[in-house]
Amino acid sequence: MNVFKNYFKSLFLLELFRGLSVTGRYLFRKKFTIMYPEEKAPVSPRFRGLHALRRYPNGEERCIACKLCEATCPALAITIEAEPREDGSRRTTRYDIDLFKCIYCGYCQEACPVDAIVETRIYEYHFENRGENIMTKEKLLAVGDKCEAQLAADIEAQAKVR
Ligand code: SF4
Ligand code: SF4
Repeated sequence: MNVFKNYFKSLFLLELFRGLSVTGRYLFRKKFTIMYPEEKAPVSPRFRGLHALRRYPNGEERCIACKLCEATCPALAITIEAEPREDGSRRTTRYDIDLFKCIYCGYCQEACPVDAIVETRIYEYHFENRGENIMTKEKLLAVGDKCEAQLAADIEAQAKVR
């Protein structure tokens, strides 16, 4: 019986027409695909992309070298060295994130008491040379400076749910 059924299906191309009917049904519906990279998909304010270190509006870096982010990082991706400044304030002398180790969990951001280390919406980046996977303090601060307006808005938007 099955042999006869399969022969009948093959003869009249039933599977092909069934497939074409699905194509036809979706042909005139709203498209879900976008022309990346010209078009970008919307990104959530909670997106966990490239890291950044933030500053206060007066230009002073927020990080107080408490090392909570380093302690909480499950991938051991953060390395911090710190010493007091001449004015007695404590600041980092080294703040590195190894992006090859990072799993983008966001724990560092959650642990930071002063919203210094954050993850931005940036997801388009790559490395061409050995060592570029290490985000140094200078690089992190530069990303923070570039994205501060967006970061401040995102943090404010999430304040109620954090
Ligand atoms: S996002 Fe997670 S894995 Fe990456 S540096 Fe922060 S705590 Fe570590
Ligand atoms: S980034 Fe935040 S949690 Fe990490 S050392 Fe600086 S102040 Fe502490």
